Amino acid sequence: MQFRTRAIHIGNEKCPETGAIVRPIHMASTFVQPGAGDWGEFDYSRSGNPTRKSLETTLASLEGGCGALCFASGMAATHGVVAMLRSGDHIVASSDIYGGTYRLLHKITDRAGIGVTLVDTTNPNHLEAAMTESTKLVWIESPGNPRMTLTDIAACAEIAHRHGALLGVDSTFATPVLTRPLELGADIVMHSATKYLGGHSDLMGGALVVREPSLYDELYFVQNATGAIMGPMEAFLCSRGLKTLELRVREQSRSAQQIAERLDFRVQVERVLYPGLPDHPGHEIALRQMQGGFGAMLSFELRGGFKAAKRFVESTQLFQLAVSLGAVESLIEQPASMSHASYDAVDRAMHGISDGMIRLSVGLEAVEDLQADLQQAFEKL
Ligand SMILES: *Cc1c(COP(=O)(O)O)cnc(C)c1O
Repeated sequence: MQFRTRAIHIGNEKCPETGAIVRPIHMASTFVQPGAGDWGEFDYSRSGNPTRKSLETTLASLEGGCGALCFASGMAATHGVVAMLRSGDHIVASSDIYGGTYRLLHKITDRAGIGVTLVDTTNPNHLEAAMTESTKLVWIESPGNPRMTLTDIAACAEIAHRHGALLGVDSTFATPVLTRPLELGADIVMHSATKYLGGHSDLMGGALVVREPSLYDELYFVQNATGAIMGPMEAFLCSRGLKTLELRVREQSRSAQQIAERLDFRVQVERVLYPGLPDHPGHEIALRQMQGGFGAMLSFELRGGFKAAKRFVESTQLFQLAVSLGAVESLIEQPASMSHASYDAVDRAMHGISDGMIRLSVGLEAVEDLQADLQQAFEKL
């Protein structure tokens, strides 16, 4: 079955009791057992819940994994992975990672005596050089945030495995529509389900999809032991969102490509960072690693610096001023004052985040309306 057919049917079989074409939301916290010491498929909702299970079944199919685990947020999912590690272990991660992951690795994981090295993984040689005997996990993000850097997943998988480490990929920006990291050799794919998977700005969630059953068992143990599970309401909403994932992502990517191409011609714009533009440094990798589109996230830099960027993000109307991304509503933000405000100036410069940078999450509105909205904001500069 094709991707979009699986998104609608796998894990979403009709309710066996009533024939309802949409599965019910199981709010139950506990399940009656067949007998003392006999366990049914479900016993307690932290350990397993039918609504969450439906979503996990769909996600495992879409990413091509042996199983999936859904968490309360993307950060909870990432925390589930690092919670497998022990004192003395070492992580190598991309320098262009989500700010919350940066904070988790540097301010929480370090308390457990786990070392972290950040490297520019757009060049796999940097990853190779950072690997040590105690490296147990390589964590990459592609496209990266906010510069839309591309990391070669297959090359990183080869390096990680040669050194006996696991490769985890935060694939939130790419979605399984465009990139399937497990097929490229990754061991774990992580998603902030809050973004494209849900797709409607109305849920918080995270997911891990795993290639090998033994790793799935280990992560399941961590999840059940620590408890940061996704609730049934969120799981239901996310399952509903997945049914239109392919259509949304393809259409939003098409709009983003058109917007990036138009921005590239504007005199007020210093540069546009979008993997679908031939002059983007990651374009070659994106051509190999992303199928049928380059995503709906893009950044650009205004020549006028911080003030111009601030004025611009406050002038758009359809592009609403908010962090987060990946939903049907278009969003705009200024990384220097919003998503990456907690970085100091030196860190921002190191990560290539300029004051004039603006990040767009292109939604599902008509692209003509989105272009007109940007046009009127440029006229106010
Ligand atoms: C939002 C996001 C996260 C964190 O997910 P939450 O659901 O907010 O916890 C992680 N990685 C990326 C790339 C994100 O965009």
